[in-house]
Amino acid sequence: MDCIFCDIINKSASAEVLFENEKVISFLDIRPINYGHTLVITKNHFDNFLLVPDDELSELIRVTKVMSNAIIKGLNSEGFNIVANTGRAAGQSIFHFHFHIIPRFRNDNFSFKPNLKSYDNGSMKEFAEKIKMAL
Ligand code: 5GP
Ligand code: ZN
Repeated sequence: MDCIFCDIINKSASAEVLFENEKVISFLDIRPINYGHTLVITKNHFDNFLLVPDDELSELIRVTKVMSNAIIKGLNSEGFNIVANTGRAAGQSIFHFHFHIIPRFRNDNFSFKPNLKSYDNGSMKEFAEKIKMAL
């Protein structure tokens, strides 16, 4: 399987690695939204969030929290966004699941620019019902 993140894990591709343990590795994103933009991935390959087993997800989240603290302290960042694009429609381009940690600063000129919708009469309940029925 051709996966650049697996190549980074097995050191056949280079990356600016920040942390690694037996299960997880974290490195700088090559095209940062802000400098210090960090990725955190499991060493086992899973295409997306839904395929990551709970125990590995739990370690991934734990390390994501550790990395977030280091970003706040090390870069004096004022906040951060944790993002996980899942599926092409959501902008996923590398199909080895990863969390992005994006350091944020006031007036850093980055925005998700959402076009916020409003629910029509009663439709909020309909959406809630559809999701609850699928639980
Ligand atoms: P996605 O679009 O799948 O959510 O995020 C993939 C991220 O991986 C992108 O932000 C992209 O810049 C980063 N990326 C792609 N190829 C490489 C690479 O070879 N090395 C590193 N460090 N990051 C990469
Ligand atoms: Zn992979």
